[in-house]
Amino acid sequence: NDDQFRKVVSHAREYGYIFASSEIYDGLSAVYDYAQNGVELKKNIREYWWRSMVYMHQNIVGLDSAILMHPTTWKASGHVDAFNDPLIDNKDSKKRYRADVLIEEYAEKLFQKAQKEIEKAKKRFGEKFDEQEYITTNPRVVGYLQEQRTVLERMANSLEKEDLADVKALIEELGIADPDTGSKNWTEVRQFNLMFGTKLGASAENAMDLYLRPETAQGIFVNFLNVQKSGRMKIPFGIAQTGKAFRNEIVARQFIFRMREFEQMEMQFFVRPGEELKWYEYWKEMRLKWHLSLGMGEENYRFHDHDKLAHYANAATDIEFNFPFGFKELEGIHSRTDFDLKAHEKFSGKKLQFFDPELNESYVPYVVETSIGLDRMFLAVLSNSLQDETLEDGSTRTVLKIPAILAPVKAAVLPLIKRDGLPEMAQQIIEDLQWDLNVIYDEKDAVGRRYRRQDAAGTPFCITVDHQSLEDNTVTIRYRDSMQQERISKDEVSKQIKEAISY
Ligand code: ATP
Repeated sequence: NDDQFRKVVSHAREYGYIFASSEIYDGLSAVYDYAQNGVELKKNIREYWWRSMVYMHQNIVGLDSAILMHPTTWKASGHVDAFNDPLIDNKDSKKRYRADVLIEEYAEKLFQKAQKEIEKAKKRFGEKFDEQEYITTNPRVVGYLQEQRTVLERMANSLEKEDLADVKALIEELGIADPDTGSKNWTEVRQFNLMFGTKLGASAENAMDLYLRPETAQGIFVNFLNVQKSGRMKIPFGIAQTGKAFRNEIVARQFIFRMREFEQMEMQFFVRPGEELKWYEYWKEMRLKWHLSLGMGEENYRFHDHDKLAHYANAATDIEFNFPFGFKELEGIHSRTDFDLKAHEKFSGKKLQFFDPELNESYVPYVVETSIGLDRMFLAVLSNSLQDETLEDGSTRTVLKIPAILAPVKAAVLPLIKRDGLPEMAQQIIEDLQWDLNVIYDEKDAVGRRYRRQDAAGTPFCITVDHQSLEDNTVTIRYRDSMQQERISKDEVSKQIKEAISY
């Protein structure tokens, strides 16, 4: 799986998806640039989310609030005081880690051990295998899963009580070593605030200390009343926003999984107090459906309900995805009560309430939020799509089976050879398609090699123009996933592709 991950990273670079930031200066750790294909995939994921949230819900509207916000925002939200990660250094390697992530990785290994036992048993027992029973009765599996739970619970408890000594004790008891060097020589655990600071204003005396926003959500909370009033919104309603967020992350070992500059897609749904758990369940279901609609395999998702809740939440879950390095958080769904709006009322002195005509009373709404990292979703799509296939004739191909609706380039148009009017006809097709599809022209190398290049780049359709095309106005359409080829009328191309990528 480490292998698979390495392949994803190098493939992303080779095929123009992701480059290290400022690479000619050796890069900037945990900061990345999206290249010609990456920017398209990212845009398509954002669009897929936006449509399902904003266009498919008459009571959800969009917002694009600024990255820089009044500094009191972050006092009210709790980020100044409590947006910390527990940090630990290894004395020998001088490397810095997040203590909670080290422990989570240990726990994930236990889960994987249990998984392996289950797979083995599945093979052994065949048809008769009852997974549920096995999980609850096999002593080894029960042991692994119990230890996983105990470890995670103890960590959550210690972090909640800010008992950093116990977090360190746990690392030592579990014998967790530096992942790079194997050393177990750890420092104490310390808290580290993740917000990036910056200054507004020219002169040193008058400069105001600001933060780059560490989440997009607060821009929504502070605009709650503006949007409600100007849009005449009635509760329940939602505000959706996508945009950059910044966190000075300590651990930066997992490519775009954990970045210092990243993009979030968040939706805050404002509801009547007392109805929040109903909406929480609704959004859990809706968000999972959204993921499953992309067809990346039901078995690759799981909910991780939080037993220990942050002080502002009364229910919380993560949608975890099966990344090459195991199941990890992809999206969070939280019932945040009236914590945020109440805090902003207190710090701003402004009322942030809704007059509910049905109840004939005003109240501070409760909030259910869905929050997903766009870059993490990108990594999920990329790592799930990259496959090495052995074909019937024994040869192999590398193919990026990105869902067609998200694919950066929808079709490549290829003249079979570079003469006899074939390039001109291919260009003609490009001109027809480019109004509403991202298509490219490719005439270099033999057509078989061009197909493979498009497979690896993730292009779902190739349109080939040959001599017959000149005679009867037909072209060949080749499908990336099945490698099937069909002859269709040139006038059918646009319709066929659009059908395959329609929402
Ligand atoms: P983690 O525990 O992995 O640090 P988190 O619980 O702090 O994440 P949230 O604050 O709930 O994350 O943010 C919501 C979503 O934003 C996450 O589910 C994740 O997809 C994304 N996200 C958070 N931090 C990062 C990051 N550093 N890089 C990329 N995406 C991130």
